[in-house]
Amino acid sequence: MLRTHTCGELRIDDAEKEVTLTGWVQKQRDKGGIVYVDLRDRYGITQLIFEEGVTDPDLIEKAKSVGREFVLRASGQVVERYSKNDKIPTGDIEIRVSSLDVLNASKTPPFTIEEETDGGEDLRLQYRYLDIRREVVREKLELRHLMMQKVREYLTGDKFIEVETPYLIKSTPEGARDFVVPSRMNEGEFYALPQSPQTFKQLLMVAGLDRYYQIVKCFRDEDLRADRQPEFTQIDCEMAFVEREDVLNTFEGMTKFLYKEIKGLELGDFHRMSYHEAIEKYGSDKPDLRFGLEFVELNDLVQGKGFVVFDSSELVVGINVEGCADYSRKQLDELTDFVKKPQIGAKGLVYVKCNEDGTFKSSVDKFFDQEALQSWAAKANAKPGDLILILAGEKDQTRKALNELRLEMGERLGLRDKSKVAPLWVLDFPLLEWDEDTQRYHAMHHPFTSPNPEDIDKLDSDPGNVRANAYDLVINGVEAGGGSIRIHDRGLQSKMFEVLGFTKEEAEEQFGFLLGAFEYGAPPHGGIAFGFDRMCAMMAGEESIRDFIAFPKNNSGRDMMIDSPSRISVEQLAELGIDLNQKTKS
Ligand code: ASP
Repeated sequence: MLRTHTCGELRIDDAEKEVTLTGWVQKQRDKGGIVYVDLRDRYGITQLIFEEGVTDPDLIEKAKSVGREFVLRASGQVVERYSKNDKIPTGDIEIRVSSLDVLNASKTPPFTIEEETDGGEDLRLQYRYLDIRREVVREKLELRHLMMQKVREYLTGDKFIEVETPYLIKSTPEGARDFVVPSRMNEGEFYALPQSPQTFKQLLMVAGLDRYYQIVKCFRDEDLRADRQPEFTQIDCEMAFVEREDVLNTFEGMTKFLYKEIKGLELGDFHRMSYHEAIEKYGSDKPDLRFGLEFVELNDLVQGKGFVVFDSSELVVGINVEGCADYSRKQLDELTDFVKKPQIGAKGLVYVKCNEDGTFKSSVDKFFDQEALQSWAAKANAKPGDLILILAGEKDQTRKALNELRLEMGERLGLRDKSKVAPLWVLDFPLLEWDEDTQRYHAMHHPFTSPNPEDIDKLDSDPGNVRANAYDLVINGVEAGGGSIRIHDRGLQSKMFEVLGFTKEEAEEQFGFLLGAFEYGAPPHGGIAFGFDRMCAMMAGEESIRDFIAFPKNNSGRDMMIDSPSRISVEQLAELGIDLNQKTKS
């Protein structure tokens, strides 16, 4: 090694030692008579000192000539500092340098390599290798590494084996578009990059591997939403001879293990809720359970009293916000503007203030008397001092809008506390979702998910009401993972494809390999996949996944550093048999 120690490890006990350090110049200060250089590596920062009368004058000149991010190798003696720095672990010592090599110079970096940087997102991504030198980014990658080790430790300890599945495959329908890769050797044919290893992991169960996992890249060509990456990482898992309960217990165990090992937190048993309950109580299939603000349906109390807005609404539903009866006109207007934003889409907001003196003041006083308002308050469990916020309209839309308002109030009241962890299993999702555009059913999870056994006979008569044997793990309102018990019977799988509108030929062409495998002793099986990047962000209490990925893409799906996607040469295209003008010609 070019060094004897790292920049993070020397302490007062090392005083007098002769050491050699290597690293980057964080900062150089010329104090006239004394030059200080802060030398940084992955492990920390150590101060180098060059002092007139002590240090060789040539060395002092050399130290003066180095700039930010120069790469140095410095040898010298560890000495106790005159003025200590209690903000860094090496702050009691400094190195009195006796020899200095400049291993490499550096241009002035385009942004400051400090905790708070002046670099904008795209600039940081373009020079990601400099961005990663920042402790805040590096720490996130270290956390990711630790998470990987802990996931492997837990699953390996539970008899799972890690198996790699191919990246050049054919399309798996998980609801997004595939990224495709042209095949040179099979002109006109394409591979697809996996949206997930779903069919492969099922085939590994048919193959008798019993318990599989993989920390694996998945690729989805989706329209980019904030904080989505076209390639992302899953902890992908599958188990044979299991029922739903076994999968939930195994992965509740894994999640608890991760929080314990990484955060030192003991999580209690996870909450469980059906999809329907989640929608009715929170207007979302991923409710944030760090706080209450449960929905209260008011139709039976408010309709038929002559207020046309309520009378013409499919659903009138509210939340009781504790202690907010003193909201000002301005605050209530803000909330009204919030729910009327196009992305939220409510037409207006009705409020009821439950005054401290037991009276009520509402925005619909013209239509409802004190007794009526009193009955709403009773239903909403509102006490004097509380504020009831009510939305009305079409059922699904109104619930969605109230979900947004609930989250907004949670935010305003500081109820989305980063230090709290509220895990929840959401169960019994609908198997199918009606799609107005294509006028047919889509699998809500994916086509390999087993219907709830009790609902199988409804597949023909009432497909919209068939429940799936599927589950999601939601933590603090974010979907951490999801999975299902699978179909393992050829007949039922064919039936499922039929319900989804595949012809026999289409099903055979796309999934013949899986249907065929089901004829050779497929065991009952089920599994789950977790969004690994997101789990890392959650563990750190961060919202953005971007910095938990070493080289992420920006919001337009571009890699700013290598500048990709990019055009390829005419020769490459020709070799692949791709004619970019084809479309205009035909
Ligand atoms: N393949 C599914 C997904 O990517 C997860 C699963 O069903 O195991 O969401």
